[in-house]
Amino acid sequence: MQEFFLPNKDIKNKKTAYINARLIDPATGLDINGALLTDGQKIADFGPGLFSSGVPQGIDIIDCKNSVLCPGLLDIQVHFRVPGQEYKEDIATGTKAAAAGGVTTVVCMANTIPTIDSPDILTDLYKTIAHEAYVKTYSYAAITMGIQGFELTDMQHLKYAGAIGFSDDGKPVMNSLIMRRAMEQAARLGMVIAQHAEDVNLSDGGCINEGKISRQLRVKGIPNASEAIIVERDLLLLELTGGHYHVLHISTHQAIDAVRRAKAKGLNVTCEVAPHHFILTDEAVLASDTMAKMNPPLRTQKDIDAILAGLKDGTIDAIATDHAPHDDASKNVHLSDAAFGIVGLETMLPLALELYHKKILSLSEVLAKMTYKAADIIHQPQLGRLKIGNDADLTILDPDMKWQISPQEFSSKSKNSPFVEYTSTGRALRTIVRGQTVYKMNLV
Ligand SMILES: [Zn+2]
Repeated sequence: MQEFFLPNKDIKNKKTAYINARLIDPATGLDINGALLTDGQKIADFGPGLFSSGVPQGIDIIDCKNSVLCPGLLDIQVHFRVPGQEYKEDIATGTKAAAAGGVTTVVCMANTIPTIDSPDILTDLYKTIAHEAYVKTYSYAAITMGIQGFELTDMQHLKYAGAIGFSDDGKPVMNSLIMRRAMEQAARLGMVIAQHAEDVNLSDGGCINEGKISRQLRVKGIPNASEAIIVERDLLLLELTGGHYHVLHISTHQAIDAVRRAKAKGLNVTCEVAPHHFILTDEAVLASDTMAKMNPPLRTQKDIDAILAGLKDGTIDAIATDHAPHDDASKNVHLSDAAFGIVGLETMLPLALELYHKKILSLSEVLAKMTYKAADIIHQPQLGRLKIGNDADLTILDPDMKWQISPQEFSSKSKNSPFVEYTSTGRALRTIVRGQTVYKMNLV
């Protein structure tokens, strides 16, 4: 059974002891058996000896039963469809999906209807978030008005209104001069520019990866070069402008090579990968049809091998889902006409943990990609770390629990996922935001 709670109670004087936990903090390398104490919304203490002589009276006890207790996970790329397409997802359902996935912080993309391109629209969104969100919810603002790629937004005032960074995701910024100006402005503001890297002229309306499968199905393909051309161009611009450039949902071996070279040169570039891009190849389209259609598309084993190498050597900093809810009408059509994207929040953790179970990364290395490394990309160093005085955003998870993913049971309003009756290992048992449980499963 799953239960959800809005984190809106007054817990000023409430203390909670999380005992019998395996405490993992990837930021410091901590991995010990011990306990953690929260006081109100904050982490008050943690360590191996804490409560070794018992928990004093007046403190609530949550027995973690040897599960992992780690910093709350972040998903730094989600589409909650607010404003404009609340029939696909809204703040309440999107953040419930996050909580169920062990995620305590999400970052929404700006390609809503209307787009998040003015301080007023962003302020309205944050009002809705304040009432409805089960987890911490931030938003990117658009780089250009209407994400049309022509006219820069008022980035300074969007920053004051709470933008976490800037992105036209859904679309790339195609014009090099506009991109240069955006990067210059973001650098001045100390903010990240996040690119959906795709040369749309080269993609030419393609719907899946260009290769054997697109030829077999006789549909138009999107070549790897579509992504790599924009990443290479943007890295040249980054040399001109300075600042922090981030590649969203990287998918090709060429783009990963480009990021690796740029990092070696000392450029401030980061990138993230979505779990589906290292679990599935474009062959999944044969079985899952439109549920395996996303942008960037599923690629080939060669690209997966490059992603795994990139995750291992640090070229790829973070894992983020590109959670993209769509209703049936958007997906129950021909492959060429279907909307791009799949939901991801409730499958991020088990899919990422495949990296651990397949011995590609250690457990702490996997969690790093969804905790402090993700927090650093959005310039929020207070998130994703176990630190006394920080907000008690925590995830309790069982990395070895076997379960079957069933999209019909998702809290997300949309069920578009290729991971149907997919056997996975590992899941969140309890999710805590600012010291309050927002989600729990029966076990703890
Ligand atoms: Zn995108």
